[in-house]
Amino acid sequence: MDEFSVIERFFKQQRVQRDDVPLGIGDDAAVVRAPAGSELAITTDVLVSGVHFPENTEPAAIGHKALAVNLSDLAAMGAAPAWATLGLTIPRIEESWLAGFSSGFLGLAEAFDVQLVGGDTTGGSLTIAVQLTGILDGERYLTRSGANEGDAIYVSGTLGDAAMGLRARNTASDRPESDHAYFIERLNRPTPRVALGLSLVGHATAAIDVSDGLAADLGHLCAASGIGAVVDVSELPLSEAYRRVLPKVGRGPALTFGDDYELCFTVASNDAPEVERLARGIGVAVTRIGHMTGHKLNWLEAGQPFEPGEYGYQHFR
Ligand code: ADP
Ligand code: MG
Repeated sequence: MDEFSVIERFFKQQRVQRDDVPLGIGDDAAVVRAPAGSELAITTDVLVSGVHFPENTEPAAIGHKALAVNLSDLAAMGAAPAWATLGLTIPRIEESWLAGFSSGFLGLAEAFDVQLVGGDTTGGSLTIAVQLTGILDGERYLTRSGANEGDAIYVSGTLGDAAMGLRARNTASDRPESDHAYFIERLNRPTPRVALGLSLVGHATAAIDVSDGLAADLGHLCAASGIGAVVDVSELPLSEAYRRVLPKVGRGPALTFGDDYELCFTVASNDAPEVERLARGIGVAVTRIGHMTGHKLNWLEAGQPFEPGEYGYQHFR
């Protein structure tokens, strides 16, 4: 099997055929049609085997995650995802791996009406680069930089499950615990909060997705907005499974590990009830964890200063 049959067999076959794609996979470039008057949001994320996921991760999970992390970035911008390209570098052509990977990728693409419109397939160590473009509501979008003094800080879903997923992977062989499957699923198949991001446009004053851990990502939001925050870590939303390991692991991993792909966003306090209503309407839990104030990001636990510990994975540190 050569590179062209790989594209034909595993990537060209997809259920999503958007009518704003006059030319998809197969030519030198794809052609898409942006709606008149709408700006576009463009994002890229690269996943490297052994860095962003353990080498033995199942291929469908890798395909899912490669797209999910990009969907999460567009969610944080309030964009409607539309067109993806896939730069796939694989050590060898292995049909079962490609079948799993493409089903994970294209399955999630279908759930969000994203069409894979092109890419590149090369030989080398396993690396997946996805570019995703989304359509904005005219000129409106969310940024990290608009938070104001007094705004409420929210986070969607729960934090720390992906951290426990990696921990579970590393200990699974000797003593599997009942929650391991749940944690590993949360690590492998994050749920991008696209509908929430779209509904926050016009409400949230700032937003970021939690990819590097809340401590790092809320820090980015504070820096971009030029304002500090106070967060009480006992307010952090934790899953029931995480609560069961809380006495053993503490709240540190939920704050510092990342890979949760939840949204962290700020809302003027008088708009908070409306935003909570919108979130309920789309069935996404959102939890108020603190507020924007001062010049620095302060963590508290039951009123006392709390130190999150070493955080934010940095590739070249
Ligand atoms: P070129 O050499 O002109 O860049 P390629 O032979 O690399 O073209 O690719 C042929 C077609 O297949 C192009 O439309 C390209 O976008 C698409 N393509 C290549 N690899 C992938 C992939 N992994 N996923 C989706 N489309 C792909
Ligand atoms: Mg060409």
